[in-house]
Amino acid sequence: MRILLSNDDGYLAPGLVALAEALSTLADVVVVAPERDRSAASNSLTLARPIRAEKMNNGYIRVDGTPTDCVHLAITGLLDDEPEMVVAGINAGANLGDDVLYSGTVAAATEGRFLGLPAVAISMNSHSPNHFQTGARVALEMVTRLCKAPLSPDVILNVNVPDLPYEALKGYCSTRLGNRHKAEPVIKDSDPRGNTIYWVGPPGAEQDAGPGTDFYAVREGYVSVTPLQVDLTRHSLLQPLDEWLQA
Ligand code: MN
Repeated sequence: MRILLSNDDGYLAPGLVALAEALSTLADVVVVAPERDRSAASNSLTLARPIRAEKMNNGYIRVDGTPTDCVHLAITGLLDDEPEMVVAGINAGANLGDDVLYSGTVAAATEGRFLGLPAVAISMNSHSPNHFQTGARVALEMVTRLCKAPLSPDVILNVNVPDLPYEALKGYCSTRLGNRHKAEPVIKDSDPRGNTIYWVGPPGAEQDAGPGTDFYAVREGYVSVTPLQVDLTRHSLLQPLDEWLQA
Protein backbone atom coordinates (compact mmCIF):
# COMPACT_ATOMS: atom_id res chain seq x y z
CA MET A 1 0.00 0.00 0.00
CA ARG A 2 1.07 3.56 -0.69
CA ILE A 3 0.28 6.29 1.85
CA LEU A 4 0.74 10.01 1.28
CA LEU A 5 1.76 11.97 4.36
CA SER A 6 1.52 15.69 4.82
CA ASN A 7 1.12 18.19 7.64
CA ASP A 8 0.86 21.90 8.32
CA ASP A 9 3.80 22.28 10.72
CA GLY A 10 6.33 21.94 7.89
CA TYR A 11 8.54 19.17 6.51
CA LEU A 12 11.01 19.38 9.43
CA ALA A 13 8.38 18.95 12.15
CA PRO A 14 9.10 16.08 14.58
CA GLY A 15 5.47 14.93 14.47
CA LEU A 16 5.75 14.30 10.74
CA VAL A 17 8.99 12.36 11.18
CA ALA A 18 7.43 10.20 13.91
CA LEU A 19 4.40 9.54 11.69
CA ALA A 20 6.56 8.61 8.67
CA GLU A 21 8.69 6.22 10.74
CA ALA A 22 5.65 4.47 12.19
CA LEU A 23 3.70 4.08 8.94
CA SER A 24 6.80 2.97 7.00
CA THR A 25 6.53 -0.34 8.87
CA LEU A 26 3.17 -0.94 7.15
CA ALA A 27 3.27 0.78 3.77
CA ASP A 28 5.21 2.70 1.16
CA VAL A 29 5.21 6.21 2.53
CA VAL A 30 5.57 9.37 0.46
CA VAL A 31 5.94 12.68 2.29
CA VAL A 32 4.86 15.92 0.60
CA ALA A 33 4.82 18.77 3.10
CA PRO A 34 5.08 22.56 3.33
CA GLU A 35 8.56 24.09 3.52
CA ARG A 36 7.58 26.02 6.67
CA ASP A 37 4.93 26.17 9.35
CA ARG A 38 1.57 26.76 7.67
CA SER A 39 -0.63 26.07 10.69
CA ALA A 40 -4.14 27.54 10.35
CA ALA A 41 -3.83 27.69 6.55
CA SER A 42 -7.20 25.93 6.31
CA ASN A 43 -8.09 24.72 2.79
CA SER A 44 -6.27 27.49 0.90
CA LEU A 45 -4.80 26.83 -2.54
CA THR A 46 -2.06 28.97 -4.08
CA LEU A 47 -3.37 30.32 -7.38
CA ALA A 48 -1.53 33.62 -7.98
CA ARG A 49 1.97 32.20 -8.40
CA PRO A 50 3.62 28.92 -9.40
CA ILE A 51 4.44 26.29 -6.78
CA ARG A 52 7.84 24.64 -6.47
CA ALA A 53 8.47 21.15 -5.12
CA GLU A 54 11.92 19.96 -4.10
CA LYS A 55 12.98 16.45 -3.11
CA MET A 56 15.18 16.46 -0.01
CA ASN A 57 17.99 14.03 0.86
CA ASN A 58 15.73 12.00 3.15
CA GLY A 59 13.21 11.53 0.32
CA TYR A 60 10.66 14.03 1.64
CA ILE A 61 9.28 16.46 -0.93
CA ARG A 62 8.95 20.01 0.37
CA VAL A 63 6.60 22.44 -1.30
CA ASP A 64 6.50 26.24 -1.07
CA GLY A 65 2.76 26.20 -0.58
CA THR A 66 -0.03 25.31 1.79
CA PRO A 67 -0.93 21.86 3.12
CA THR A 68 -3.76 21.75 0.58
CA ASP A 69 -1.31 22.65 -2.21
CA CYS A 70 0.89 19.74 -1.11
CA VAL A 71 -1.85 17.10 -1.26
CA HIS A 72 -3.45 18.62 -4.34
CA LEU A 73 -0.14 18.49 -6.23
CA ALA A 74 0.63 15.02 -4.95
CA ILE A 75 -2.61 13.48 -6.21
CA THR A 76 -2.93 15.41 -9.45
CA GLY A 77 0.44 14.91 -11.08
CA LEU A 78 3.46 15.34 -8.82
CA LEU A 79 3.65 11.64 -7.95
CA ASP A 80 3.99 8.84 -10.48
CA ASP A 81 1.58 6.58 -8.60
CA GLU A 82 -1.58 7.70 -6.83
CA PRO A 83 -1.59 6.94 -3.10
CA GLU A 84 -4.45 5.00 -1.55
CA MET A 85 -4.84 7.27 1.44
CA VAL A 86 -3.65 10.48 3.05
CA VAL A 87 -2.58 10.78 6.66
CA ALA A 88 -1.88 14.30 7.94
CA GLY A 89 0.07 15.21 11.08
CA ILE A 90 1.08 14.54 13.65
CA ASN A 91 0.14 18.09 14.54
CA ALA A 92 1.61 19.84 17.56
CA GLY A 93 -1.65 21.09 19.06
CA ALA A 94 -5.18 19.75 19.25
CA ASN A 95 -7.74 20.24 16.48
CA LEU A 96 -10.97 20.15 18.45
CA GLY A 97 -14.38 21.63 17.69
CA ASP A 98 -14.19 24.82 15.63
CA ASP A 99 -10.42 24.34 15.21
CA VAL A 100 -11.11 22.01 12.27
CA LEU A 101 -12.31 24.99 10.20
CA TYR A 102 -8.90 26.68 10.49
CA SER A 103 -6.65 23.64 10.65
CA GLY A 104 -4.16 22.97 7.88
CA THR A 105 -3.78 19.43 9.22
CA VAL A 106 -7.47 18.67 8.73
CA ALA A 107 -7.34 20.48 5.37
CA ALA A 108 -4.53 18.24 4.13
CA ALA A 109 -6.61 15.19 5.02
CA THR A 110 -9.70 16.73 3.43
CA GLU A 111 -7.85 17.22 0.17
CA GLY A 112 -7.18 13.47 0.08
CA ARG A 113 -10.82 12.46 0.56
CA PHE A 114 -11.26 11.08 -2.98
CA LEU A 115 -8.63 8.38 -2.65
CA GLY A 116 -9.41 4.75 -1.90
CA LEU A 117 -9.50 4.87 1.90
CA PRO A 118 -10.66 7.39 4.49
CA ALA A 119 -8.31 10.29 5.11
CA VAL A 120 -6.90 10.71 8.61
CA ALA A 121 -5.83 13.89 10.41
CA ILE A 122 -3.97 13.28 13.65
CA SER A 123 -3.08 15.82 16.32
CA MET A 124 -1.54 15.79 19.80
CA ASN A 125 -3.42 17.60 22.54
CA SER A 126 -0.41 19.81 23.36
CA HIS A 127 1.45 22.58 21.55
CA SER A 128 4.79 21.13 22.68
CA PRO A 129 4.09 17.39 22.84
CA ASN A 130 6.28 15.02 24.81
CA HIS A 131 4.65 11.87 23.39
CA PHE A 132 4.66 11.96 19.58
CA GLN A 133 5.44 8.22 19.80
CA THR A 134 1.98 7.72 21.30
CA GLY A 135 0.44 9.56 18.36
CA ALA A 136 2.56 7.53 15.93
CA ARG A 137 1.39 4.27 17.46
CA VAL A 138 -2.23 5.44 17.35
CA ALA A 139 -1.79 6.39 13.68
CA LEU A 140 -0.40 2.94 12.91
CA GLU A 141 -3.30 1.26 14.71
CA MET A 142 -5.86 3.42 12.89
CA VAL A 143 -4.38 2.74 9.45
CA THR A 144 -4.02 -0.98 10.16
CA ARG A 145 -7.68 -1.12 11.21
CA LEU A 146 -8.79 0.82 8.13
CA CYS A 147 -6.98 -1.65 5.88
CA LYS A 148 -8.61 -4.65 7.57
CA ALA A 149 -12.09 -3.12 7.92
CA PRO A 150 -12.51 -0.14 5.59
CA LEU A 151 -14.98 2.62 6.38
CA SER A 152 -16.70 4.73 3.73
CA PRO A 153 -13.80 6.13 1.68
CA ASP A 154 -15.09 9.71 1.62
CA VAL A 155 -15.02 10.05 5.40
CA ILE A 156 -12.33 12.11 7.12
CA LEU A 157 -11.27 10.90 10.54
CA ASN A 158 -10.16 13.67 12.85
CA VAL A 159 -8.03 12.04 15.53
CA ASN A 160 -6.85 13.83 18.68
CA VAL A 161 -4.44 12.09 21.01
CA PRO A 162 -3.80 12.96 24.68
CA ASP A 163 -0.14 13.84 25.24
CA LEU A 164 0.47 10.80 27.45
CA PRO A 165 2.55 7.63 27.35
CA TYR A 166 0.76 5.00 25.24
CA GLU A 167 0.15 2.80 28.29
CA ALA A 168 -1.71 5.67 30.01
CA LEU A 169 -4.35 6.01 27.26
CA LYS A 170 -7.81 4.85 28.31
CA GLY A 171 -8.77 3.72 24.80
CA TYR A 172 -10.54 5.02 21.71
CA CYS A 173 -13.76 7.02 21.69
CA SER A 174 -15.95 8.09 18.74
CA THR A 175 -16.93 11.71 19.27
CA ARG A 176 -18.71 14.68 17.76
CA LEU A 177 -17.11 18.10 17.44
CA GLY A 178 -17.68 20.34 20.44
CA ASN A 179 -17.24 24.07 20.12
CA ARG A 180 -15.55 27.08 21.67
CA HIS A 181 -16.61 30.50 22.83
CA LYS A 182 -15.77 33.45 20.60
CA ALA A 183 -12.01 33.87 20.12
CA GLU A 184 -9.98 36.06 22.50
CA PRO A 185 -9.44 39.67 21.30
CA VAL A 186 -6.65 40.51 18.86
CA ILE A 187 -3.49 41.79 20.51
CA LYS A 188 -2.67 45.33 19.41
CA ASP A 189 0.93 46.56 19.37
CA SER A 190 3.16 48.87 17.36
CA ASP A 191 6.17 48.17 15.14
CA PRO A 192 9.53 50.02 15.56
CA ARG A 193 8.30 52.75 13.23
CA GLY A 194 5.17 53.41 15.23
CA ASN A 195 2.71 51.66 12.93
CA THR A 196 -0.08 49.70 14.59
CA ILE A 197 0.16 45.93 14.23
CA TYR A 198 -2.09 43.12 15.38
CA TRP A 199 -1.58 39.54 16.54
CA VAL A 200 -4.49 37.17 16.18
CA GLY A 201 -5.31 36.15 19.75
CA PRO A 202 -5.79 32.66 21.18
CA PRO A 203 -8.90 30.57 20.43
CA GLY A 204 -11.85 30.91 22.78
CA ALA A 205 -12.37 28.76 25.85
CA GLU A 206 -14.29 25.48 25.58
CA GLN A 207 -18.06 25.94 25.49
CA ASP A 208 -19.81 22.78 24.26
CA ALA A 209 -17.31 20.32 25.70
CA GLY A 210 -19.32 17.79 27.69
CA PRO A 211 -19.62 13.99 27.34
CA GLY A 212 -19.76 12.88 23.71
CA THR A 213 -17.56 15.69 22.45
CA ASP A 214 -13.97 15.56 21.26
CA PHE A 215 -12.92 17.99 24.00
CA TYR A 216 -14.29 15.69 26.69
CA ALA A 217 -12.68 12.53 25.31
CA VAL A 218 -9.12 13.89 25.22
CA ARG A 219 -9.55 15.56 28.60
CA GLU A 220 -10.52 12.16 30.03
CA GLY A 221 -7.50 10.45 28.47
CA TYR A 222 -9.16 8.83 25.43
CA VAL A 223 -8.10 9.05 21.80
CA SER A 224 -10.90 11.09 20.20
CA VAL A 225 -11.97 10.03 16.70
CA THR A 226 -14.51 12.27 14.96
CA PRO A 227 -15.88 11.32 11.54
CA LEU A 228 -16.03 14.48 9.40
CA GLN A 229 -17.85 15.23 6.17
CA VAL A 230 -17.32 18.13 3.78
CA ASP A 231 -21.02 18.88 3.21
CA LEU A 232 -21.66 21.98 5.34
CA THR A 233 -25.31 22.19 4.29
CA ARG A 234 -27.67 22.56 7.23
CA HIS A 235 -30.10 19.99 5.92
CA SER A 236 -32.65 20.50 8.72
CA LEU A 237 -33.11 24.12 7.61
CA LEU A 238 -33.73 23.46 3.90
CA GLN A 239 -37.52 23.19 4.20
CA PRO A 240 -38.02 26.09 6.67
CA LEU A 241 -35.72 28.21 4.53
CA ASP A 242 -37.72 27.44 1.43
CA GLU A 243 -40.92 28.49 3.21
CA TRP A 244 -39.19 31.67 4.42
CA LEU A 245 -38.01 32.47 0.90
CA GLN A 246 -41.42 31.83 -0.70
CA ALA A 247 -43.41 33.80 1.89
MN1 MN B 1 0.04 22.87 12.94
